[in-house]
Amino acid sequence: MRARLTAIENLISRDPGHRNIFGLVIPGQLRLAALSLLSAEKVGIVTGFPVLSKGVGETDGPPGALALGQALGKLGIEVVYLTDELNRPLLEAIGAGPLPEYHPGLIETERLSHLVAVERPGRGRDGRYYNMFGQDISHLVEPLDELFLKAEDLPVTTIGIGDGGNEIGLGRILDGVTKAVDKGWLIGSTVPTDYLILSGVSNWGAYGLVGALSVLAGQDLLPSASDIRVCINSMLAAGSVDGVTSEAVAKVDGLDLRESIALVEEIRSIFLLPSEGCS
Ligand code: MG
Ligand code: MG
Repeated sequence: MRARLTAIENLISRDPGHRNIFGLVIPGQLRLAALSLLSAEKVGIVTGFPVLSKGVGETDGPPGALALGQALGKLGIEVVYLTDELNRPLLEAIGAGPLPEYHPGLIETERLSHLVAVERPGRGRDGRYYNMFGQDISHLVEPLDELFLKAEDLPVTTIGIGDGGNEIGLGRILDGVTKAVDKGWLIGSTVPTDYLILSGVSNWGAYGLVGALSVLAGQDLLPSASDIRVCINSMLAAGSVDGVTSEAVAKVDGLDLRESIALVEEIRSIFLLPSEGCS
């Protein structure tokens, strides 16, 4: 079982965007995050990253959040999705719900046992939010990362999924991000999580986590190619754009959607490998 989980962890650690964060991977985090989720009572999945030039949310984040939420639902685990007003139409368009309004007391009112962030801005050292180009996007970001800071003092487990250094969770490796990532000293997130999953594209990290849950549960929980296409097309119809090119095209982080679909099929093929006996 561990060999399959390690294979998935390695698979999602490709670096197509040359973000240079994979020297910072903490091995085994994918497995530990998935194991923790299996005992979750209720999970809040936080996502949505604004594209400054267009004032809309990007295509990386919500598809991974939806795939994770649907997988947890199949395991009988309750889920809520959390985002801000700018990204709300995108989550509604892909059918991600329930989608309660953000407020600082959400952990208590929703009785969350876990929080997962999929490509969601985490505040930098100066308390502002930045995109990968070093541009200040604070006016487009509601402080949902506050929930993760608050969770440090509560019996709530947190998981961060990111691909660039400026997302919730990457605060756990802030010193490494500062050294390894372009403008890391400025954009690096200061918000840590208990478990941290790095991936070439954040959606891939979420698909990897769904793959790990599939291996642990012995059940294929991964989205189909059609699910992934429908999700992205629904987001585009609701105004979303690719986060790297700012274009309204079926791409994620500048990569053709076929690359995401191929990656999910590779994860599925690892899930389908025979288990390793007594390992
Ligand atoms: Mg990112
Ligand atoms: Mg991304």
